[in-house]
Amino acid sequence: MSWPHAHTRSHQSQVSHCSEYYSRRVLRLREEETLMPKPKLTRTDGLGPYEIQQIRNAVRLLWHRSKAKSIVVKRCTGPDGFLRCENQTCLEMVPKIYVDHIQAVGDVDEGFLKRMFVPSTELQGLCKQCHDKKTKAERQSS
Ligand SMILES: [Zn+2]
Repeated sequence: MSWPHAHTRSHQSQVSHCSEYYSRRVLRLREEETLMPKPKLTRTDGLGPYEIQQIRNAVRLLWHRSKAKSIVVKRCTGPDGFLRCENQTCLEMVPKIYVDHIQAVGDVDEGFLKRMFVPSTELQGLCKQCHDKKTKAERQSS
């Protein structure tokens, strides 16, 4: 990691710069850990971040009723009627399955609908723990 203008700054300002960076970073990590809601966006006169968020939420609602998603839930249901996580290193029996896009859907762009509505073979049913872990890793890498 390199600090901007690190060579031109005095030692004192580097320290305050770093501590300011760390306190913001710690704050961000705490927000992610406690899943604090992000500051509310407001409507734009046109297509802005708020409208894009609304489109994502609306499309996700439709996707939750998709055939592909129901196929995955059926696939996770054993002959005993219990649900199991499809993560082969987990296979935990759980009360609820979280259907995950193996390839993250990502931004609302030209390819968004195609990445959201993938066939069931490109989805996996995970337990909450496995799903949260994957979602967190995807957020950090984006
Ligand atoms: Zn799992």
